[in-house]
Amino acid sequence: MRICRFNKDRLGVVDGGSVFDVTAALDVLPSSRYPLPSFDPFIANLGQVRQCIDELLPSAARLALEDVQLLSPIANPGKLVAAPVNYTKHLEEARADAGVHHNGKIEEIQRIGLFLKANSSMAGPSEGVAIRHPERRNDHEIELAVVIGKPGVGISRADAWSYIAGYCIGLDMTVRGPEERSLRKSVDSYSVLGPWFVTADELPDPTSLDFQLTVNGEVRQSANTRDLLMDIPALIEFASSFYTLHPGDVIFTGTPEGVGPVHAGDLIVAEFDQIGRMEVAVRAA
Ligand code: MN
Repeated sequence: MRICRFNKDRLGVVDGGSVFDVTAALDVLPSSRYPLPSFDPFIANLGQVRQCIDELLPSAARLALEDVQLLSPIANPGKLVAAPVNYTKHLEEARADAGVHHNGKIEEIQRIGLFLKANSSMAGPSEGVAIRHPERRNDHEIELAVVIGKPGVGISRADAWSYIAGYCIGLDMTVRGPEERSLRKSVDSYSVLGPWFVTADELPDPTSLDFQLTVNGEVRQSANTRDLLMDIPALIEFASSFYTLHPGDVIFTGTPEGVGPVHAGDLIVAEFDQIGRMEVAVRAA
């Protein structure tokens, strides 16, 4: 199932060029009062939500996909985990390009581990990317985003797949420079998720997905998830050896070679096999 959030926090099922409005399925979520949970309630209750969606679908209002504003499919993740330099050719380009490495040593992911992006940096495709520090280099990074489905800590590689709820396309937008990654990659709108959430049963094998990013029609990044250095189960095992993963936590799995700058006025198109395609406009903050 492909589930989107659209317009003013509506819930939809995407089928071809149509979106079916199933917002009423959110009524099954438990009402919460302060303090709010540190996980995403929609993903935590996905089974129940899907049952309700199945009941609503036959009579759901149908909209044209091209007419809706797509939001981040996950509204309240507890954390955005991200993998640096997780493709060999990106590691090589980062080490070769002073505009990327800024005289810092680019270490392998096995040595530097993972980082976190602020949740407040999350945006949906329709919201676009708003460039801060336009005098500096602001790069696109297309990545497979893995959404965790149930709580777990110390998850073994063998069990890792059962912790995945589904997938999205992620853009890990980045201000290049000498600061910590978590600062440079946490600018408002610098974590784009979309175009929708594809449930794991709909995408049983994400280990060989072609994906591509263009800027104003020019292909910048084109790769396949089979070339991940630390693969999806390894990322889950590694992350959960440090902290509990909660439903709705998102893992940005890393970007391949071809990163490059974008500027206000550019149009990014990000496409993933078996997930979909999203257009993300770039503007000045
Ligand atoms: Mn990245």
